[in-house]
Amino acid sequence: MSLATQALPWHQEAWNRTVEQVDSGKAPHAYLISAQAASGKRYFANMLAQRLLCHTPTPQSACGHCPACLLSAAGNNPDLIIVKPLDKSKVIRIDQIRDLKHFLETSSHSFGKRVIVLDTAETLNISAANALLKGLEEPPQDAVFLILSDRPKAVMATISSRCRPLKLSSPNAAQAIAWLNAQVPSATSEDVEFALDYAQGRVFNALAMLEDETKSLHEEIGADLLLVIKQQTLATKIATRYQKNHCAEVLNILSYWLSALSKFEVTGQRQFIKGRALQEAAQLMPSQASSHSQLAKGLMSFYANVVQAQTQIAGVSNPNLQLLLEDLLMQLQQLFRSQKGL
Ligand SMILES: [Zn+2]
Repeated sequence: MSLATQALPWHQEAWNRTVEQVDSGKAPHAYLISAQAASGKRYFANMLAQRLLCHTPTPQSACGHCPACLLSAAGNNPDLIIVKPLDKSKVIRIDQIRDLKHFLETSSHSFGKRVIVLDTAETLNISAANALLKGLEEPPQDAVFLILSDRPKAVMATISSRCRPLKLSSPNAAQAIAWLNAQVPSATSEDVEFALDYAQGRVFNALAMLEDETKSLHEEIGADLLLVIKQQTLATKIATRYQKNHCAEVLNILSYWLSALSKFEVTGQRQFIKGRALQEAAQLMPSQASSHSQLAKGLMSFYANVVQAQTQIAGVSNPNLQLLLEDLLMQLQQLFRSQKGL
């Protein structure tokens, strides 16, 4: 974790308010920090944690050069603990909360504050949540809990009632575009708009896409989907390629494509078709008017299947990803094949 020195523009007001509470001794021992997914609440929490631990903070941020800041910048400040689901697990387990208890029983290494970032409240299983309550009820004097949530209404009332709510805003389109341009100066404005659209306005997901690795993965998946559509490869082969590590990305791209193609099909407006691979896919759709309603129907029902698969893989049921992907890729091939002859 590098040291954050500047609050996100759309968080500036919340940042000023929070710093004022901290500096006037009016901060609670627990904040419930909520915001739309991928809009920067982790960034906010890390920056606040770093400032809480800093020995000589400024109003804007942590100082960046005291011993605590040097440890924070290196990612190993012993007075900060981040609790989140481990590896591929989707929940925070009770043994992680027990480790936290140990952290709370030890006093601060620098005789200052200790910060616990809990990422996120929704991922606590029931027994972990109950174990956490104890720490929230009788917190050590110097401990500050920063509890994150995408959906604060889904957080157990016993937890949320012990925290001060801190709701962060999302950027508007102009803020998001300006910020992304500043983060990735090499990206063209077309790239930035496409990434933001694809990420459904979630600015940190758009950032990940613009950074090289995700961008090339995205292009690779797009190219492979085109091969499936053109029947130049087998659905099985593509499913095998992605099922292990990038199943969610394939489903995200599929759902984005289908949603865009549906809008294009219904309205005839090209503005919905962004990105090279999707433009090519749109060209492979039939243009005869008689087939339009049938195609629109096919796109919608396929879209519903993809969304259902997304829900399945996000849940706890652990479906067979190879079969799931294979099935959807064959549906994709079928959709374009059945339209071709019309
Ligand atoms: Zn410092």
